[in-house]
Amino acid sequence: MEWKIPLSDIDFGPEESALVQDVLNSRWLTMGGVTQKFETEFAEYVGAKHAIAVTNGTAALHLACLVVGLGPGDEAIVPSLTFVATANAVRYVGATPVFADITSQNDLNISPDSIERLISQRTQAIIVVHYGGYPCEMEQILTLARNNNLMVIEDAAHAVGAELRGRGLGTWGNVGCFSFFSNKNLTTGEGGMVVTNRDDIAEQLRLLRSHGMTSLTWDRHRGHAWSYDVVALGYNYRLDEIRSAIGCAQLAKVEKNNERRRCLTQLYRDALQELVPKVGLPFHNHVGKTSAHLMPILLPADAKRETFMGRMKEHGIQTSIHYPPIHTFTAYQNGNPVELPVTEDVANREVTLPLYPTLAEQDIVVVVEAVRQSIS
Ligand SMILES: *Cc1c(COP(=O)(O)O)cnc(C)c1O
Repeated sequence: MEWKIPLSDIDFGPEESALVQDVLNSRWLTMGGVTQKFETEFAEYVGAKHAIAVTNGTAALHLACLVVGLGPGDEAIVPSLTFVATANAVRYVGATPVFADITSQNDLNISPDSIERLISQRTQAIIVVHYGGYPCEMEQILTLARNNNLMVIEDAAHAVGAELRGRGLGTWGNVGCFSFFSNKNLTTGEGGMVVTNRDDIAEQLRLLRSHGMTSLTWDRHRGHAWSYDVVALGYNYRLDEIRSAIGCAQLAKVEKNNERRRCLTQLYRDALQELVPKVGLPFHNHVGKTSAHLMPILLPADAKRETFMGRMKEHGIQTSIHYPPIHTFTAYQNGNPVELPVTEDVANREVTLPLYPTLAEQDIVVVVEAVRQSIS
């Protein structure tokens, strides 16, 4: 299907092609100077001491769960209104995800009150997700973590370049995880990054990313090592130089593109205002600097979402849902039904409108007119 206005689009130009060509010409294809450059520049951009490039955001979350010490018998409190990878990562290490509700129809992030009610003797970690690039209430969540001796992982897959009180999202907790999947604000096709301010955690992450080996092919190539030991059960979660080159080119424009996304979001909000309160506009009074990854709206409680999305499709406009909640998936039924009233209400009514830096201002007028016609 050829959409008149797709849900998302990437901003690739000659910069990406040129840097990829340089890598191909260099004949060094994985974990070398370009990946190191991408890591250094990314760490500096988000304000983290360390950044470790990995294969994808899910691998980032898996490593994060390992390095915060999650394991069998432990629980991690996670939102249900997120991509399934957030909770899957907890299960990869044998721990149990415990689902918390979101704050409200306006704040779709994990609720600190809900977290507090779910803390048990077995709780080892909290994983927060900055939905759409809008900051979670990190101060309250870090206080809860401190008082209960819990580790905090940030799933910052939507939040590259977003900030709360001037501090980059992904750098508030013990470990931050980013995704560079095709529809994210910064993309390398597949790719991800783990950030941390702790030297010991960074060292663990680097080991686990590459088979638990104490030296890399790259070190041996440069004559820095000739053998290696294996000191942990590691994985091959390395990022290649080709993707890192794309990452460097994308990083150079993410700030400008995020600004454009914020600008387009404001245009959406202004144009949709006439439909409020029939249509809900979450995060209308959010704090901090968002990366504006998504443009979610809430349909009226009695609206038929499928019909609405079908009508939008007739207008040539692609819409989506973020997200079918994880606790309702077949693979997450374990005989203990969970009730998350706010998550369930929002998940039934949410529709995501097109948002990407190359979206034209005129397109927003077209989308909002289609929303107005499709909603009645
Ligand atoms: C995209 C995404 C992931 C997974 O990232 P991949 O790079 O696709 O593995 C995890 N969590 C959230 C919230 C995401 O949006």
